[in-house]
Amino acid sequence: IRARFDERFAEQIPGSLRMRDRADRVLVAPTHMHRYFFPSTYPLFVREARAGRVTDVDGNEYVDLSGGYGPHILGYAHPVVTEAITSAATAGPVNAIGNEPEVEFAELLVDSLPGAERALLCNSGTEAALTAIRLCRAHRRRDTVVKFEGHYHGFSDQGMVSSWFRFTGDKHAPEPIAGSLGSQRAVVKGTRVLQYGDIGGLDRLRAEADDLACVVVEPLPSSTATLDREFLTALRERCTEWGVPLIFDEVVTGYRVTYGGAQSLVDVQPDLTLLGKIIGGGLACGAVVGRADLVEMCRSTEDPFLDYEQRAFAGGTLSGNSLTCRAGAAVLRHLRDNPHLYRELEEKTERLRDELIESTRKRGIPCRVGARGAIFSLNFSHRSAGVYRDRMAGSNFKATIALAYYMRRHGVYIPELHSFLLSTAHTDDDLAVVGKAFDLSVAEMAD
Ligand code: PLP
Repeated sequence: IRARFDERFAEQIPGSLRMRDRADRVLVAPTHMHRYFFPSTYPLFVREARAGRVTDVDGNEYVDLSGGYGPHILGYAHPVVTEAITSAATAGPVNAIGNEPEVEFAELLVDSLPGAERALLCNSGTEAALTAIRLCRAHRRRDTVVKFEGHYHGFSDQGMVSSWFRFTGDKHAPEPIAGSLGSQRAVVKGTRVLQYGDIGGLDRLRAEADDLACVVVEPLPSSTATLDREFLTALRERCTEWGVPLIFDEVVTGYRVTYGGAQSLVDVQPDLTLLGKIIGGGLACGAVVGRADLVEMCRSTEDPFLDYEQRAFAGGTLSGNSLTCRAGAAVLRHLRDNPHLYRELEEKTERLRDELIESTRKRGIPCRVGARGAIFSLNFSHRSAGVYRDRMAGSNFKATIALAYYMRRHGVYIPELHSFLLSTAHTDDDLAVVGKAFDLSVAEMAD
């Protein structure tokens, strides 16, 4: 397949093909985040990224719907971010020493979420989840984490349990399954897995409530882009009743669906919120924001021996570095001060969704497009409802991967197995290119 592919694209992307061969010698695989797992059908190496488009090393331009998997809500190289990073770099990047950007950034985070009292900064969504779970375990002196099938909380053993593709057990009582080879079995076995939306599952958990460290959930799972207010309200009530901290993973949805994240759309307040992606303005960043007594589980006492007994440890060399914090603060301020951007993003997303649905409908191709705010997910599937594993079982992943290949030939970069993300920088022209590329692609694929 590769030889045929290379022959066909030798003229269009010679530089990317050469770069892929170079990368193959030193990296696990040549392209983007899923590089460690899903081989790309169409190597793309970017030389420049501006607003809603990326340009590859051969000079081909693509409208980008990956948004770098989330951070670039303002589009690539937005002036407020570029200026913030440049001035912080000029002032001298500071890390592991207190700095003003860190304080200002934490203030913005805490002020943005109702009821939040403290922020703890780290370097990725994965780290945010790891840290929050440790804080809850320390607080509760319990081990068991409850999570939901199909929800991903970063690449740790814990974050990946039952997070994708392979599921076992009854769908209403899923058995925990490792998300990756190499996961510690004890971590996997010590996880309780439920279905998002299944209030009965929550009630069955009642008998074990005393053993639980925390419950972690994506309030608006980006894989389906659905938000279940009734379920989240029930989950909040149960957690409050049982005294078990509730963690919302808003690594994707925070500042994307609206400034206050999915929690503000349903008016349900978690005890801790996990953040990442957008809050770093494209630099590595994560945060845990929420209840003071939980976050302060890692505040030092004056006695290191006592700390060992009574405190959790959380921290990292680059956590709260001034460069990231300046970039993140610039993005947050811009979003906070321009609420119309969210209305525009939603309008653009809905317009595009309708266009894509129409392209497949008129050809009789089964396709589901879930959309919410600036997130949309596309599945070639008949199934519009059901729990995550039902939707997965009904989806034609090969078609989704093929779509990415066709779209790139028509000037649009979509990630192969990830939701699509729009930015405030996408223009009407960009959306027209996407609509046309999709229409041509599905027509070619149907042939
Ligand atoms: N949580 C969710 C919901 C995510 O989608 C992701 C990443 O895609 C993470 C956590 C992990 O974030 P990161 O990739 O920054 O470690």
